[in-house]
Amino acid sequence: MKTLYINANLYDPAHDIDTAGNLLIEDGVILGINQFAEDAEIVDLKGKWLCPSITDMHVHCFKEMSDLGLDMDEIGVDMHVGTLVDAGSSGCRDIETLLQQIEEAATRIKVFINYSSVGLTHGNQELADWSLIDENALREVVQRYPGIIKGIKLRASASVVGKLGIEVIRAGKAFAKELGLPVMVHIGNEPPQLEEVLNCLEKGDIVTHIFHGKPKGIFDEEGRLKPLVEEKYREGVLFDVGHGAASFSFDVCEKAIREGIKPSLISSDLHKRNYLSKLHSLSEVVSKLYACGLSERQLIDAISIRPAALLGLQNGLQIAHQADLSVIDFQACEPMILKDSQGHERLCRKQVVFEALIR
Ligand SMILES: [Zn+2]
Repeated sequence: MKTLYINANLYDPAHDIDTAGNLLIEDGVILGINQFAEDAEIVDLKGKWLCPSITDMHVHCFKEMSDLGLDMDEIGVDMHVGTLVDAGSSGCRDIETLLQQIEEAATRIKVFINYSSVGLTHGNQELADWSLIDENALREVVQRYPGIIKGIKLRASASVVGKLGIEVIRAGKAFAKELGLPVMVHIGNEPPQLEEVLNCLEKGDIVTHIFHGKPKGIFDEEGRLKPLVEEKYREGVLFDVGHGAASFSFDVCEKAIREGIKPSLISSDLHKRNYLSKLHSLSEVVSKLYACGLSERQLIDAISIRPAALLGLQNGLQIAHQADLSVIDFQACEPMILKDSQGHERLCRKQVVFEALIR
């Protein structure tokens, strides 16, 4: 069966596509761009955007073992999000159980495995004791599942690292580098200091919760952007939103964007303790960034194009490839109030809707 999607904004800069037009698909395979077929069923997208399928780079979906874990498909394909990255819910000890769940899900799942063997299955101090880290076991697991394990997750908060401080973050980064993987580092309450954490990171590594509104974030006490933040951003360290329950401030985000610091990645950090109570979906997070002034292209870069490159996904707008695409509607809406983690509000007149996943 052929389907012709007309009046679409086709966008995939990784394959030099940025054009209004139509897309022809037959039996799940992309047949042509701006090509017609008389026998195709026509779907009028009315100016909606068609791009490589959406990825949420930071969620918790290890339902079996972690009390943070949400159902993979509930926050994945059911919300038209094609790929989820579980960010550190599992360490090497429980990875087989997670992999079993991944196999059963319709959503594509990739993993940033926790540097700690126990991940987030065992209290809140997974990096506070060297006995919880087993590099040999972790190396073995990472090398066994290169298609799924795409990075190492570290949480650099005082409550998590305890007396090990920055040393455990440095050790985790050195380990990831040895394996050729990026790290995703959570930042929150110091110590370790933000500067100490950033100094560990290099191009391709990810800092998540970048726009949190807690003390000692990316701006100093006088409200100036910290020079090292700017330096690392220019160097190619990826800045991820990681909204979560307590990690997004409109003030910080808007000010950062004014100073030229745009999020490289926009993720939700959805988990059981914030889902539905503080946050409903990745699209809600993206709507907030839309309200902060990012353009449609900048938003798609951060939820589709960059994640696909990082994870090595084959979901581009390429002829003869299996379709793995998202339809996104950037639409005007009735005025609605969106709140950040501080409870600060913005009145929004437009929203982002993930309308379909085409596979
Ligand atoms: Zn998280």
